[in-house]
Amino acid sequence: MATRLGLVCIAASLIGSPALAEDLLVRTQAAYSAALEQAEPGDTIILANGEWRDFDMVVLGNGRADAPLTVTAQQAGKVFLTGQSSLRMGGEHLVVSNLVFKDGYSPRGETVSYRVSDAVLASNSRVTGVVIDGFSKPDRYESDYWVGIYGRNNRFDHNHLSGKSNKGVTLAVRLNSEESRENNHRIDHNYFGPRATLGSNGGETLRIGTSAYSMFNANTVVERNVFDRTSGEVEIISSKSGGNVFRENVFLRAKGNLTLRHGDNNVVERNVFLGDGQDYTGGIRVINRGQTVRQNYMEGLRGAAFSSALAVMNGVPNSPVNRYVEVEGARISNNTIVDSAAIGFGIGADEERSARPSNSTFTANLLGGADAGPFVEAFDDMSGIAFANNRVIQGQVDAALPGLPVAPAELQRAGNGLLYPVAAELASIGAPSDLAPVALAEVGAPYYPKAEEREPFGFAGKTTRVYPGGTSLFDAIAQACAGEVLLLTPGDYVLDRTIALDKPLTLRGDAADTADRPVIRFSRPSLIELREGGDLQLQNLVIDGELAPDSVGNAVIRTSTFPIQSNIDIELDGVDVRGLNVNKSFHVLALGKSSLADRVKITGSSFTDISGAVVLAAAETEDYGQYNVDYLDISGSSFTDIGGPIANIYRGGRDESTFGPNVTITGNTLTNVGSAATNGTGASINLHGVQIADVSGNAVRASAPLRVVHTVGTPKTSIRGNVFTGTPEPVLEELNFGGAFRAEMSGNVAGGGVQ
Ligand code: CA
Repeated sequence: MATRLGLVCIAASLIGSPALAEDLLVRTQAAYSAALEQAEPGDTIILANGEWRDFDMVVLGNGRADAPLTVTAQQAGKVFLTGQSSLRMGGEHLVVSNLVFKDGYSPRGETVSYRVSDAVLASNSRVTGVVIDGFSKPDRYESDYWVGIYGRNNRFDHNHLSGKSNKGVTLAVRLNSEESRENNHRIDHNYFGPRATLGSNGGETLRIGTSAYSMFNANTVVERNVFDRTSGEVEIISSKSGGNVFRENVFLRAKGNLTLRHGDNNVVERNVFLGDGQDYTGGIRVINRGQTVRQNYMEGLRGAAFSSALAVMNGVPNSPVNRYVEVEGARISNNTIVDSAAIGFGIGADEERSARPSNSTFTANLLGGADAGPFVEAFDDMSGIAFANNRVIQGQVDAALPGLPVAPAELQRAGNGLLYPVAAELASIGAPSDLAPVALAEVGAPYYPKAEEREPFGFAGKTTRVYPGGTSLFDAIAQACAGEVLLLTPGDYVLDRTIALDKPLTLRGDAADTADRPVIRFSRPSLIELREGGDLQLQNLVIDGELAPDSVGNAVIRTSTFPIQSNIDIELDGVDVRGLNVNKSFHVLALGKSSLADRVKITGSSFTDISGAVVLAAAETEDYGQYNVDYLDISGSSFTDIGGPIANIYRGGRDESTFGPNVTITGNTLTNVGSAATNGTGASINLHGVQIADVSGNAVRASAPLRVVHTVGTPKTSIRGNVFTGTPEPVLEELNFGGAFRAEMSGNVAGGGVQ
């Protein structure tokens, strides 16, 4: 066969096949389209090395089982689809491999789709060695899928999906037409890389089905993938269909869990969950009928409630498809769960979720808590589960649960890196000895490096000294590299331009003596505007607002109105902020809409004469369950004459899919805080919808009250050892829970008496 259309034919192969397969190297989108029109089964279209920008790529055609139609890269890792690019496939026996999507985002609802249109699906097709790296829509709440799998008998393997920052499932298996059900897809050996906490529902990494089609079987197999820090929301995997198998996957430091959310008769077996002691790391959540959970291994998990190592939920009697079908016929056996925070039975039990598990078994499981405290809990009557041959080696078991004897046992790490009991008589309890956790090197695109973890600040290993005068500080910030430390010599620094910060940076005063700290003044409404990629660490500095103009929404640090995809880190240590009072609402830190700080940490700092709030994270007011800060830690700091609250945190709505906010306020002194007429919260600390709050050891004088409002879920609030002088009692409110306010309150002193 002659080279078609004059395309470059660089090789011929498959000797002996009926038609001579061709390799067609293409260099332009037009040449690609022309090649595709002419392509026959067995042909390979090769995209030339380089950048393919704004490529609305369609692979439409048919190969044969013995001669697929292939599209690939000239060299793996050298072909980049950037800008407004996407890939859609339709037909049979198609293979796409070795493409990298980065530096852009899909203008469509999906980046890689196993369909061209509603009517044209791909089946018996494969995507392998493809990378999607940070290919997120700019607005974190604009939703898409990175991968949508439709049709039947498709494979998605050895791909690398990392850094999705916008809302929407990373990989969705769709069952929205009959042609996509009982699909026998295989999803294997993929690297699901870090997915930062979204701060909203819609941060799942893998979802199979939706509630509307959950009565159908998907029969999708998910095996030997790695989920590395896939911490978008409480569901890492959301199985919403029947007949799926989740086998031998490894979860590394991933917040959330594998949730059998809707659909029956799924199997979860031989998976390994390693939490490494990180917050909210969980295992498996069981809902619906006929689920099998066997031979899984979990270690170092710290999640509780929905994110427990094992959460067996209560259901809703005659549940509608979008609520909680009761657990019936569950078989949970030979799992090892050690050094983990919580196992819960009847989780979610309330007036609506009153249907208990029934006709179920829980056998030969080896269980060990992270400490000697409460570990296995029951939230309803669990007589519908037969417990037998289990062993608990550490931690307390709910007295209402039979068949969970507690006795210590020695464990030893085996060659596969997992812990097993030393005693021979325990050999048949817990996970099997032949587990072989899939290694990082076995998953993902072999040519593409996996994300390293780094410190948030100072990682460049470079420190640059800055001297006062002129535009020295502005220039140094502009020229600094990501992770650099700028060491400020004592003296006065004046900035007449707002710094647009788009990289992690440390500004550190170089003074042993606090009296010698460098002083930064600014003559714009803000000193620093955080943009995409901007993280800020301030140490041993004074920030004085006296030169700032009277402007609406003044803030020393605020987020840009441009979308910020990445989560923000902010630290203030040994920072004095003063004189923010040119108008009635001058804030220290204001986090705006569609921004999420992973962590805001304030230690050893002082704040004086400020008209607004110190940390304002209350921009998501639509009650969709979104919020602006995941962790807020304020400790060892003083606040004097502050008009607004030192922390105003708002997370509204009834959604139960997020981890935070998580707030710690300890060991601070507050004097005349929150009393300004412009403080709409009426509080010195305002925590609305915070999931975990620890307010302890603070001295609060002549201030507005502490205000805590619980919305949904099982919030944990602790208010201990505070001294409230000339300050009203805390205002505590439950919006949905029927009983008294749920909080640990002890040792608080008010006006000389115990509260
Ligand atoms: Ca969800």
